[in-house]
Amino acid sequence: MKVTLLGTGTPEPYARRASSGYLLDIGDETLQFDCGGGSFGRLLEAGRRPTDLDRLFLSHLHSDHMLDYARLVHAIWDKGGVDLPVFGPAPIRTVSDRLFGSEGALFADLTARTEHAPSKEIWVERGGTLPRAWPAPDITEIAPGFEMPGDGWHLRSVEVPHAQPFLTCMGFRVDTPYASFVYSGDSGPCDALTTLAEGADVLVHMCFNLSQEARGPEWVAGSSGHLEIARTARDAGIRRVVLTHLRPHMDAPGVHQRIVSEMAEVFPGDIVIGEDLMVLEL
Ligand SMILES: [Zn+2]
Repeated sequence: MKVTLLGTGTPEPYARRASSGYLLDIGDETLQFDCGGGSFGRLLEAGRRPTDLDRLFLSHLHSDHMLDYARLVHAIWDKGGVDLPVFGPAPIRTVSDRLFGSEGALFADLTARTEHAPSKEIWVERGGTLPRAWPAPDITEIAPGFEMPGDGWHLRSVEVPHAQPFLTCMGFRVDTPYASFVYSGDSGPCDALTTLAEGADVLVHMCFNLSQEARGPEWVAGSSGHLEIARTARDAGIRRVVLTHLRPHMDAPGVHQRIVSEMAEVFPGDIVIGEDLMVLEL
């Protein structure tokens, strides 16, 4: 199992960190979790092609977890790839229809690409046939508790507290016989995530701010700081925690060292500050 961090940032524009996106390679299959703005470019920088993806899972529909969705689906379609299987909470079907449907945001582009003679010629030269269908991602709307058996892997999900009741928010775990990967999605501390992460090899966890910066209980409830994450990691008994979803000020001199040293007082395992394009072999 190989984890590639495509985007370790937030909605804030920040050259160092794209918004959320993570690749998981298991055998011949590639799963992507979230596709925030900039993650598509990182996919290319990682030497991968959009058509490499076998499935996309969305933790929740905050924009910084799905703004590159249109780019990803369109690029796969343009290359003649198989319509991407997409698993995400409602209203991902509505979002998709409003992007790729006959009256969607891309209707003018898609009309031109499928009806303009030179575009059709290029499509046929690439091996396509006419008439050319529009992009049609294979959507499955999922709810917390969703499970999926794959070829040598098994995915589970739980609800995590973040932006309810406005958004359904999920964390995911993928197990193989050899390794286990957990992604918190965006989450505050909760028993469901701790239980999901039990004994995992790696937990990739959003860390939006230092715990001392929390502005009140509601703030902490939906977005763990580094000390809440350390307690989750300790209670789950995991081997390694990777912090992601980091804001620019958290990269200021000395802050990484402070995060690691304060977390190490609580959690005895490996503590990693994620960076875009970091690869973890499990
Ligand atoms: Zn979020």
